[in-house]
Amino acid sequence: NKEMLLIPGPTPVVDEIYEALAAETWAHTDPRFVSVFANSLKLTKQLFNTDGEVFVIAGSGTLAMEMAVVNVLAPGEKLLVISQGYFGDRFVPLAQTHGIQVETLQAEWGQQVDPGAVADKLARESFKAVTLTHVDTSTGVVADLAALVPIIKRSGALLILDGVCAAAALDEDMQKEYGAPDYKIDLVLTGSQKAIGVPPGLAIVAFGPRALAAREARGLVGGYYVDIKNWLPIMENPGRYYATPPVNMIYAFNRGMEIVMKEDLPRRYRRHEALGKAVRAALSTYGMKPLASEQAAAPTLTCFLYPEGVDDLAFRRALAAKGVVIAGALASLAGKAFRIGHMGNVTGEMFSQAIRLMGETLTEMGHAVNSEAAVAKFREVYQF
Ligand code: PMP
Repeated sequence: NKEMLLIPGPTPVVDEIYEALAAETWAHTDPRFVSVFANSLKLTKQLFNTDGEVFVIAGSGTLAMEMAVVNVLAPGEKLLVISQGYFGDRFVPLAQTHGIQVETLQAEWGQQVDPGAVADKLARESFKAVTLTHVDTSTGVVADLAALVPIIKRSGALLILDGVCAAAALDEDMQKEYGAPDYKIDLVLTGSQKAIGVPPGLAIVAFGPRALAAREARGLVGGYYVDIKNWLPIMENPGRYYATPPVNMIYAFNRGMEIVMKEDLPRRYRRHEALGKAVRAALSTYGMKPLASEQAAAPTLTCFLYPEGVDDLAFRRALAAKGVVIAGALASLAGKAFRIGHMGNVTGEMFSQAIRLMGETLTEMGHAVNSEAAVAKFREVYQF
C-alpha cells in the first residue's frame, strides 16, 4: 500500500516508471541508451508540438526557468513578468540575477491577471520577452491563454510559458495560432515531477523557432550549463557528449512520456479538467472553499481555504497518518489553506479514497461531515 502523494508535485509514480528507473545503468554513449534518449526527445517534441528544439537535462523546474530566460534575454534587456502567485514572482529575482531589467504585473492571489492591464502595459512600453505561469502552484489559478497570448504576441515580445504545473495536463501546443499566424507560444518549460508523473530531476525546455533565433542573435550567455548552444548538438544527436545525462532518469522519463502519449493528449487534458472539477465539487461539500473561482481554477491543483476552526498542521498530520499527503499553502495563506494536486498518473479511485479519508479526518477532529456524500459527489462529477 503506497502513500498517496497528493501534493502539487512530485506526483504519484506508477510502477512501470519505477521499474524503468531501477534498470541497469548503461553507458551514456551506448546505442541502446541513445535510442531511449532520442525517443524521449521525440515524444517531448510531440507533447509541445514544436517545430523548434527541446532540451531535457538534469535539474529541476527552476533550472528550466533560468535556461528559458538567459538564452533569450541579454543583461540590460527588458522582461515583463506576469505573475499570478509565488512561482510567477520567482522570475523576478531570477532575471535580476542576470542583469535583466524586470517589470511585473501581479494579480491578487486567487485572481487571474486582468488582460486589459497587460494590454495597457505593453502599449506603453516594449519588452523583449514576457513570462507567464500557465498554472501558479501557489494559488491554483490558471492563466487565460486565449486572452493573453494574442495581447502579448501583438506587442512583438517573445512569450515564455512556465508549464511546470501544467505540461501534459493542459494544452501547450507551440504551433497553435492564437488569432493570427505568428501569435504562438515561443518557449515552454517544465520539470519531470508534476503532470508528467516522473520523479523530480529533469529540467525540460522547448524552444520554438523565434526563441532559437533569439539565442542565435545573442552573444555570450552568462552560464555554461544553461547555454542551449552547448546542448543543441546533443539534442540533435543524443549519442554526442556534452555533460553526462542522468541515464536512469531518462529511462524513467521515456517511460513516462510513452504513458502520456499513449493516453492521447486530448483525452489526458479532458481527464484533468474533469478531475479538477470533481475534486472541487466534492471537497466543497466539506465547507472547504477553492481560492480561485471556478472559471480561473486550474485542472492540476486546487488551493482550498479551510472551514472555520480547522488546524492546518493537525489536519495534514492526521491525514498523512492515513496515507494521504497534501501540502500546506504558501506565504500569507499558510495555516489558512492547503493545496491538493490532482494531476499526472492518478486515478478516480485514488481520489474517492482520499476524499473519504479527508472527511473522516475532519469528523475525528470534531468537524462532522458526510464523507459518503462527498465521495458520491466526486463520482457524479468525475465521469471518466
Ligand atoms: N514553476 C512552477 C509553476 C512550479 O510549480 C514550480 C515548482 N513547484 C517551479 C516553477 C519550480 O520548479 P522546481 O521546484 O522543480 O525547481
